Amino acid sequence: MLDVKGISKSFGAGSTAKEVLSGLSLSVADGEFVSLIGPSGSGKSTLFSLIGGLQTPSSGRIAVGGEDITGKTGHIAYMPQQASLLPWRTVSGNIELALRIAGHGDKASIKATAQKWLEAVGLGEYCNAYPHVLSGGMAQRVSFLRALLSPQPLMLLDEPFGALDALTRLQMQQWLLSIWEKHRRSVLLITHSIEEALQLSDRVLVLSASPGTIVDEIIVPFERPRREDLWTDNRWSELKGRIYNGLQGAGGGV
Ligand code: ADP
Ligand code: MG
Repeated sequence: MLDVKGISKSFGAGSTAKEVLSGLSLSVADGEFVSLIGPSGSGKSTLFSLIGGLQTPSSGRIAVGGEDITGKTGHIAYMPQQASLLPWRTVSGNIELALRIAGHGDKASIKATAQKWLEAVGLGEYCNAYPHVLSGGMAQRVSFLRALLSPQPLMLLDEPFGALDALTRLQMQQWLLSIWEKHRRSVLLITHSIEEALQLSDRVLVLSASPGTIVDEIIVPFERPRREDLWTDNRWSELKGRIYNGLQGAGGGV
């Protein structure tokens, strides 16, 4: 699905040039959930803007579904850290827009589909509300739904729950897991949380401090659907330790 090959990115020129990513390669298979965990400043968001085509790498190539998309926009569904819903559209209007871009039928059927999805994520009664009345967790659910219903087959999630309180975050992880396990899409998730990465992903990539490069890859062995009490599994703390050590070796905590 996604192939990132030998990506480097530097900002600035001459003696002030700073290399942020160095020869980074990764891939995400069809329907796979991959997490990227790394110290802050290691170039994670830069990598997303390169994959999204908002910036061009200094070297290396990016392909989606075999097509070279280096420096091209429009090929991925992106969910930013802060929900960026259109404030002048209703909650339903925000979802309808994604469906319209994805080419889902006529106006009436798009409205009905949006209603159905919002009910499915527990927001049926907010269809006609405007985004500013939503709590942080609700806005992130709408934002995730919008990415899920976008036509692009790959979703990039940049610390989607980073701004939420711990309890809401846990609930959102369970919620995302249940939706994703039903509607598998290819996902690349940036997170600061080792637990979140283990709970959600098929594979975890550990990124080094700047200039970022991949220092460890963990195939997460837990079966799906994932249990909520994974921490009672013997392998949980062993894997947590391994990722933690990878991050320490990679240039200090998260
Ligand atoms: P992360 O998301 O892992 O925390 P970022 O990708 O946001 O890291 O940033 C990595 C480094 O690149 C930081 O040191 C940041 O200051 C630098 N950086 C990011 N974007 C730019 C830019 N447009 N110009 C110059 N430096 C940048
Ligand atoms: Mg970032």
